[in-house]
Amino acid sequence: MLSHCLYHKYSYPDQGFVVHMLTSPTRSFLTNAYLIETESAVVAIDTFMLVSDAQALCALFDSIALPSGKPLLGIIITHGHPDHYNGTSTLIAGLKDVPVISSQGITDCIKNSVDAKQVKWKPFFGDDWPEHKILPNQWVADGTSLTLDGLQYHFRDWGAAESSSDLSITLGQQRSVVFVGDVVFNTMHGFMNDGHTQQWLAVLKQLAVELADVPLLFTGHGAPGKTAPLIAKQIQYLQTYRHHVSKLAGTAYALTSEQKICLEKILCNAYPDYQLKGFIQDGADAVAAEISEYNNQGLPP
Ligand SMILES: [Zn+2]
Repeated sequence: MLSHCLYHKYSYPDQGFVVHMLTSPTRSFLTNAYLIETESAVVAIDTFMLVSDAQALCALFDSIALPSGKPLLGIIITHGHPDHYNGTSTLIAGLKDVPVISSQGITDCIKNSVDAKQVKWKPFFGDDWPEHKILPNQWVADGTSLTLDGLQYHFRDWGAAESSSDLSITLGQQRSVVFVGDVVFNTMHGFMNDGHTQQWLAVLKQLAVELADVPLLFTGHGAPGKTAPLIAKQIQYLQTYRHHVSKLAGTAYALTSEQKICLEKILCNAYPDYQLKGFIQDGADAVAAEISEYNNQGLPP
């Protein structure tokens, strides 16, 4: 299959599923989208941001579905950032009655931010930015499971972490794999713009306990890896980023341009093999505001 996206496959024959992973190019942030293939059907987890990337996901789906006749049973959205839901309209074009499964919090997040994201990114991506966005239309609650084509999808709704609402999905009774959206990256600088880093750290610490029995973790950005070390690395990255933002900003709610350049140098030196370094400066003000706001709590105005 020819594609401008990178393809990897992870097979679990003893448990009856295959994870097909597609990764978008750097210009669309090296995002991962997944197709879970079971005996008689396929389920998607996330749908990319750009039309061209979503078309690559369609081509991957067709390569599975055309010879086998397997339908797309549903699309699961891990969180409300456009690199994970924008492509839904492209993926379901021509298909009937495909539920888009997510949480109420994620649906609200998409509703509240979809216009602002369009204003920010449409001028940059032009026609590759999809015109129509599809909202989730089947909500799952925290701690519940769905069984799709015999495979159990278990959902945890973490509330605000990397985004304003993040979902994780564990597959099967044996809990061999977990999908955590952008709560954990692998060897990538974090997206800090939503400014919930303190809650995010608390979620990561809880994840480390709850997922201690799950061997493999699939990320929103970066290769899958062993669950415990990936979570530990993400905790350490957030602590390092917060430490340096706090040190540079002091009590200010934003960093100067010079301070942002300094922050980028420090983070690049600390994590020389990490990609997506454009995120370092971009998220600095949100984290400075979050830390200053927290430190000022309880003080008179
Ligand atoms: Zn993402």
